[in-house]
Amino acid sequence: MMLCYHDGQFTPLEKAYVPLSDYAIQRGIGVFESIRTYDRRPFAPGPHLERLLRSAEQAGIEAREIISQIPAVFREGLGRPELQGGEIIMKPYVTGGDVMVNKRFPNPRLYVLFEPLELPDPGLYQTGITLEPVNMERPFPLIKSINYMFGYIPVAGRGDVFESLFCPDGEITEASSSNFFLCVDGKLVTAPVGRVLPGITRGIVLHLAREAGFKVEERCPKVTELDRADEAFITGSIKEVLGVTRIGGRRIGNGRPGPVTQHLHRLYRASIHKWLG
Ligand SMILES: *Cc1c(COP(=O)(O)O)cnc(C)c1O
Repeated sequence: MMLCYHDGQFTPLEKAYVPLSDYAIQRGIGVFESIRTYDRRPFAPGPHLERLLRSAEQAGIEAREIISQIPAVFREGLGRPELQGGEIIMKPYVTGGDVMVNKRFPNPRLYVLFEPLELPDPGLYQTGITLEPVNMERPFPLIKSINYMFGYIPVAGRGDVFESLFCPDGEITEASSSNFFLCVDGKLVTAPVGRVLPGITRGIVLHLAREAGFKVEERCPKVTELDRADEAFITGSIKEVLGVTRIGGRRIGNGRPGPVTQHLHRLYRASIHKWLG
């Protein structure tokens, strides 16, 4: 069963509702996080909830108090008998609420969804995935907004494409719900925070890569570098580290997920226990 916490109560997800008066519905005002469990313990809850607060602040949503309740909601939700065994994904949503004052939102709503964790097809880690480059920037890159329309529209109906890859003016920023890394000229290159969301997985992978002695550059990789790149991968809390073997019409490297991608994924998996809440 999927569960939803709202306003002090847990209900089955299909019974939960957002009033039509909420600015999430009326104007797309809302921010969220996806937090998965390992052994039923939340992964990096502190960093995720800090980012949720920063997303809310930048969206003009006054959410400090409501977000401070979430750790207790996670604890209670994970102990609920309605959730069967297995790993869980917990998604806190902070909506704009019904009140807008000077384009700020002083009275937000909090929903926390608890769902069985669904992982990408394991075969994708062997074959790698395809991204579709789109010549646009994700608006307000520091906000993890509920609005994914910009990333979805360019690949609507494309079963062969995993996500859009935002490449404004030939500079690669991030994918629609992942950070992007390129291995080129013996370096690991990824866009700087500010051009992209500060992915929790991105931060951990960068730390592990530096610790392991990789040369790292935080700048936007260029589309013109793709032809000579050896490897590419994306990162995200659910997918962890996932190889990218095609971008639009281009094959990356030899068309298989490469050794750097696989090595960093192994290092990531080995460090997971340090981040469990
Ligand atoms: C969620 C998301 C990410 C990945 O963030 P993690 O904290 O690593 O899960 C990257 N970019 C965008 C646009 C996202 O929405």
